[in-house]
Amino acid sequence: MAVSEKTKQSIAKGSFIRRMFEEGIKRKQKYGRDNVFDFSLGNPNLEPPAKVKQVLHELIDDPSPGRHGYMPNAGLPETKQAVADHLNKFNQTQLTADEIVMTAGAGAALNLVLKTLLNPGDEVIIPSPYFFEYNFYLDNYQGIPKIVRTGADFMLDINRITENINQKTKAILINSPNNPTGRVYSEKVLQELASTLSHYSQKYGEPIYLISDEPYRKIVYDGVFVPSIFDVYQDAIVATSFSKDLSLGGERIGYVALNPSISEKETILAGLVLCTRVLGYVNAPALMQRAVRYLLEETVDVNIYQKRRDMLCAGLGSIGYEFTRPEGAFYLFPKTPIADDAAFVSALKEENILVVPGSGFDGPGHFRIAYCVSDEVIQRALPGFEKVLKQY
Ligand code: PLP
Repeated sequence: MAVSEKTKQSIAKGSFIRRMFEEGIKRKQKYGRDNVFDFSLGNPNLEPPAKVKQVLHELIDDPSPGRHGYMPNAGLPETKQAVADHLNKFNQTQLTADEIVMTAGAGAALNLVLKTLLNPGDEVIIPSPYFFEYNFYLDNYQGIPKIVRTGADFMLDINRITENINQKTKAILINSPNNPTGRVYSEKVLQELASTLSHYSQKYGEPIYLISDEPYRKIVYDGVFVPSIFDVYQDAIVATSFSKDLSLGGERIGYVALNPSISEKETILAGLVLCTRVLGYVNAPALMQRAVRYLLEETVDVNIYQKRRDMLCAGLGSIGYEFTRPEGAFYLFPKTPIADDAAFVSALKEENILVVPGSGFDGPGHFRIAYCVSDEVIQRALPGFEKVLKQY
C-alpha cells in the first residue's frame, strides 16, 4: 500500500469539505454552473483590493538585483517592521520586527508554532466547534487535541476549559472571529481565560501558551471589536494570514507574532527560525512579503460580506432556521432540524445546495454555510433551503 495507514485515516476523517467540493464539480457539470449553490468552501469570491495588483506590478518592475534569492528565514526585516508597526496600532504592547516571523499563510504559521512548542504527548485545548485541520496540525508533532465544547452562542466556556487543564497542557488554540461559527470572543471572556491560564501556568511551573489563529480578524460586522490577546495575556502568540482579508489564499502569505513579554522569547524565536526551514517552507514567498508591506492597511470591502450575512440571516430566519448571528468571518452555522446533520446536508444536496455538516467541525446538529459567494447565489438558494426545511 503506497499511502501510510495514518494518512489513509486522515484522508477519511478530513474529507467532508473535499467531498462536497468534488460533489460540486460533478453537479455543476450535470446541472450547469448557475444551478448549483456551492457554500462549501471558505474561498473568498471577492477579488483582492486594486492596490494589490498595483503594488505587485511595481515590485515586478523593480530592477534591483537579488530580489528572488534566499533571505533570513524569519522574513524581510522591512516587512517584519511594517507588520510590527501595524500591530502596534491595535494593541498596547510595543512589538518590534524581532517578534514577527513571516510565513506561508496561517496554516504554516500554526504548524510552525506547534512544531516549535510541542513535545510528543503535550496537550492543546481546542474550543469546539473548530477548524478541523487543527487535528492534523497537532498530529504532525504528536500533540494531543483536547476538544472542549463552547457554551451558549459558541462563547468560550471557561469552566469547561479549566476542567481540561492539567500538567500536560501546553497551549490553548483559539480562533476568533471563528470558523465555523462567526463568533468573536469578548474582552471579558478573554480576560477570564487569561487569568485561568496564568493561574495554572503558575501552579504547574510552566507557561500555558495562548495561540490565537486570526485570519478573519479584519472581517467583522457592525463595528464589533476583536480584542488583542497581547493586551490580556503575556504568553500569547498570534498566527494569521492575508488569505481572507485580502483574498490572497493562493499566494500563501501570513505571519506569526509573539507578545514581546512572552516567556523564553529568545528560545521560541530561535525555534521558529529553525522550524520554518525544517518544515520545508524555508521562508514566506519573497514577492508577497514585499507586497504585503504596502498592503497592511488594505482590506477587501467587508460591507459586501456584511450585506450577505444580513441577506442570509434574514432569508433563513424567516424560513425558520435557527442560528447564532455571526459577528465576523463569512460563515453561518445554523442548527439542523434533525440530529443527523449529514442526512440533512444530503437533503440540501438534492436541491443542489452544497454545505458542510457540522460534524466536520465537531459541531453535530449544525451545518456550515460559507457565504463568501455572490448575492445571487444566496438569493437563488433560499427556496431550496425552505423546501428542505419543510420536509422535516
Ligand atoms: N485557520 C482557520 C480558522 C481557517 O479557516 C483557515 C482557512 O480556511 C486557516 C487557518 C488557514 O489559512 P491559510 O490559508 O492562510 O493557511
